[in-house]
Amino acid sequence: LVVLDHVDKHFGELHVLKDIELTVNRGEVVVVIGPSGSGKSTLCRAINRLETIDSGTISIDGVQLPEEGAALARLRADVGMVFQQFNLFAHKSVLENVTLAPMRVKRMPRRDAEAKAMELLQRVGVADQARKLPAQLSGGQQQRVAIARSLAMSPKLILMDEPTSALDPEMINEVLDVMVGLAKDGMTMIVVTHEMGFARRAADRVVFMADGAIVEQAPPAEFFDDPRSARAKDFLSKIL
Ligand code: ATP
Ligand code: MG
Repeated sequence: LVVLDHVDKHFGELHVLKDIELTVNRGEVVVVIGPSGSGKSTLCRAINRLETIDSGTISIDGVQLPEEGAALARLRADVGMVFQQFNLFAHKSVLENVTLAPMRVKRMPRRDAEAKAMELLQRVGVADQARKLPAQLSGGQQQRVAIARSLAMSPKLILMDEPTSALDPEMINEVLDVMVGLAKDGMTMIVVTHEMGFARRAADRVVFMADGAIVEQAPPAEFFDDPRSARAKDFLSKIL
């Protein structure tokens, strides 16, 4: 579904993505881990074309990421993104946050968009908060709304960049449970996270990045129990 071929990117002198080769199949859950500054967020942002790349290609469902314009907007509609900071529209209700994109981008009638939104809010366990503003919700609830919002576009793929890092510990699990549910339902996901429990429970594959390169990738059991590279061993010894 997603293919990165020889992707390179620099920020000035800094080589942040080094010859990245990555294929993510439909229904696959890929967890990206690695030290701070290794390029995980840049990788996510490149896949959604929030960052340009210097060379190589990225394609989604067989379509190479276009530079701009309507073709890019179409492709982006197929890619959900959930950030560390929930990025909800502060002055719109929870329900409006979820209906906005389907109504604007997909021209979905309000009634249909609201029905779908309520279904999704139900699925992530915050349907009773639909009329509130985001600030009236807990962090865990807000992040679940953000997930519902990304699902509202029926994306082919969801990218999540440290979706639980900004949450208080007691709220992390409620968001992880929703993520595990999505994974079990067959959503294709690329998730940057430090939650190794999630990786073990839900990932099909762990991709380990260091210094802008993919150093190693393997199924979670294999990666955690028997990391190959010295970099991965070192990283795991620090976080586990
Ligand atoms: P973290 O775990 O801290 O989130 P990361 O793996 O997500 O780290 P990136 O955010 O992708 O790392 O950053 C990779 C490198 O690129 C870092 O050295 C960072 O300082 C640098 N970088 C990121 N964004 C920019 C930018 N817009 N301009 C210049 N340098 C940047
Ligand atoms: Mg990051």
